[in-house]
Amino acid sequence: MSELTIFNGLIIAWLVTAAVTFLALLFISAPYGRHGRSGWGPQIPATLGWILMEAPSPLGMTLLFVLATPERHRNPAAIAFLALWLVHYINRAFVFPFRMRNAGKTMPAAVALMAVVFNLGNAYLNGRWLFHFSPLYPDAWLTDPRFLVGVALFFAGFAINQHSDWVLLHLRKPGETGYKIPRGGLYRFVSCPNYFGEVLEWTGWALATWCVAGVTFAVWTAANLVPRAITHHRWYREQFPDYPSERRAVFPYVL
Ligand code: NDP
Repeated sequence: MSELTIFNGLIIAWLVTAAVTFLALLFISAPYGRHGRSGWGPQIPATLGWILMEAPSPLGMTLLFVLATPERHRNPAAIAFLALWLVHYINRAFVFPFRMRNAGKTMPAAVALMAVVFNLGNAYLNGRWLFHFSPLYPDAWLTDPRFLVGVALFFAGFAINQHSDWVLLHLRKPGETGYKIPRGGLYRFVSCPNYFGEVLEWTGWALATWCVAGVTFAVWTAANLVPRAITHHRWYREQFPDYPSERRAVFPYVL
């Protein structure tokens, strides 16, 4: 069986798993952060967990680029895709974990392991397609409207995600571990603008790369984060009687 046949099978399996995960997460919240609870096996420090979970993404993508042919190394679109990926993932894997104010918090090793499997598979599907299986993107791709609108969405999402995470990470004083009502920016409209930004980013990625692997990542991001946003939103409303009633969960004015 050729690698491409396996690749195509994996894409289908990936989409089916995203649909199953979406349905499961509507009923069972992933047990980390405020939804952490016992019964999910051994725990590891949350900061370590985040690094272990996310590092396979930038490392895997970079490795797949390095293993590509010299023609790909010189290809402007391939270089741009790697750059976008690393802009997001260097922060997520190596900066964000050290900025969390989560003194002493832990997460189940099982959650970290599931995320490692996801990130390895996701980096493989995107990197192997973009740097190996895809037809070579022409130089003119960088001025194609799909690329330009996709990159604009990506950076708009990145800015929203960064700002929203920044607000959250500054709610606690050093040593605090409790929760407060976040305010400002897109928190005026939704409880989880960081998730909204993330969904926007990978939707932009799907558009800019114009490939099925990119679409699977956007679909997975929404399947993972929309149910979590609904659960966060419900949690905020239960915890804080004065929680702003006009806020939605994740998509301004919609959901
Ligand atoms: P959360 O919004 O649940 O938490 C982010 C950080 O802020 C945590 O350190 C959390 O602490 C803290 N925090 C959150 N809310 C409050 C509050 N009200 N008061 C005080 N502190 C608060 O996000 P996640 O941890 O789920 O995700 C972190 C980032 O990773 C996000 O940007 C998200 O988009 C991204 N992500 C992307 C995924 C994808 O599929 N692409 C999957 C998962 C995450 P604590 O941990 O103690 O709750």
